[in-house]
Amino acid sequence: MFKRRNEKSRREYHLLKLAYRCQSAEELCEKAVSLVGCPVYWKPCRVLLLGKPGFSAKKASFYLIGYKPTTYLSIQHTILHELGHIVLGHHEARDTEEIDIEQEAEDFGYQLLVAVHGVGAFLSTSKNPSVAARYESLMSL
Ligand SMILES: [Zn+2]
Repeated sequence: MFKRRNEKSRREYHLLKLAYRCQSAEELCEKAVSLVGCPVYWKPCRVLLLGKPGFSAKKASFYLIGYKPTTYLSIQHTILHELGHIVLGHHEARDTEEIDIEQEAEDFGYQLLVAVHGVGAFLSTSKNPSVAARYESLMSL
């Protein structure tokens, strides 16, 4: 369990570092291949389950991210949120630890969005009051 958590933190750290050198979510997906262990592809999908903005799925030799075609930054956020699910290991067998995977992917997705597109992108896409509060407290430092 301890080892697994370390591995997850390592991948999280390296993806975030990589994100600062990318200009788009798509570029980050391309550069994340060695971290993820296989390619990550993305495509717009008009029909999505339960009105969600996106999804990710593990296929035989790659991951697929589907997103609702909306505005550029919303799409960027959706792709990064889904990439978060992939890198955080949410597609692998769950361990017994109680974690809110949606919240974890959302928080990480926003960190990636800020790394790739800056805080302006974060502010214009954030709908989460706890994320906004965290941003406010960071900005007041
Ligand atoms: Zn999600």
